[in-house]
Parts: sequence; structure tokens; C-alpha cells
Amino acid sequence: MSSSSLSLPSASMKPLEKEENNGAVEAKTNEETLVCKICQTVVILKNMTTEWLNEERELPLPRQKKGIDHTQTEPVRGYFGVKDIFAFENVGFTRSSEGKRFLVCGECEQGPVGYVDPETEMNYVTPERLDVLQASQDGKN
Ligand SMILES: [Zn+2]
Repeated sequence: MSSSSLSLPSASMKPLEKEENNGAVEAKTNEETLVCKICQTVVILKNMTTEWLNEERELPLPRQKKGIDHTQTEPVRGYFGVKDIFAFENVGFTRSSEGKRFLVCGECEQGPVGYVDPETEMNYVTPERLDVLQASQDGKN
């Protein structure tokens, strides 16, 4: 019995699976004003962010089920990053039981709509948990 069924991996067929740490982050500004899904308060105006993080992060569910003592989370992909907290119009913070900091709507506290990176202190906000301000409403000053 000769077991010569080794198949050489062909490099060209390999899907690009591993993402380099830096590869997932690109310089990008938010092209639209993002508002709270519940109260429509502006969370961040357009052109305020500096980067886009194309990765999944675990965010706590907007509604936690009762009777469970740990924070329930779901993976949410894609975040605009901004260093300066004053880039936001209306934002609040919550702290999970694990000590992580999350961003919530500054008006009604729905969310989390993002998180704070504990190492870099960058603020990441996800369009997945926010609405885009319609262009017709954009002209009011
Ligand atoms: Zn709100």
C-alpha cells in the first residue's frame, strides 16, 4: 500500500483568506450623515470620520434578554473610525460588565452603535445600527 495521495496546494487557486491587520483598515470618510434609528438624532455628520474598519466585532444586542447574566452579543461588520470624540454630534457611552466601552445615541441611548478600541482609543461607529440622513433633510441649518 503506497499512500501517495498527497495533493500539492496550488497557490493560484488559494482564496485570499487571511486578512492582514492593516488590510482591513482603509482611510475613508463617511459620505453621509448618520442618524439614530429610533429618534433620528444626528450622531455624526458626514465627512467626519477618518477610517473604515472592514471587520466583524461583537456588539451587545440592542435588547438584552432578561435572566441572563452575561452580555449577549452579535457580530456586526463594518465601522467608521474617528479618533476625536468631538467629531460626534450626539453620542453617549455605556460600559459593559466586562469593562468594554460602547457608543450609544446621545439622545435616547439606543445601541450600542459602536465601540471604543481600548488600545488606540479610536471610536468606531457602525452604519449597521444607524440610519442615513436623507438628502432632502440635509439643507437645514
Ligand atoms: Zn436616539
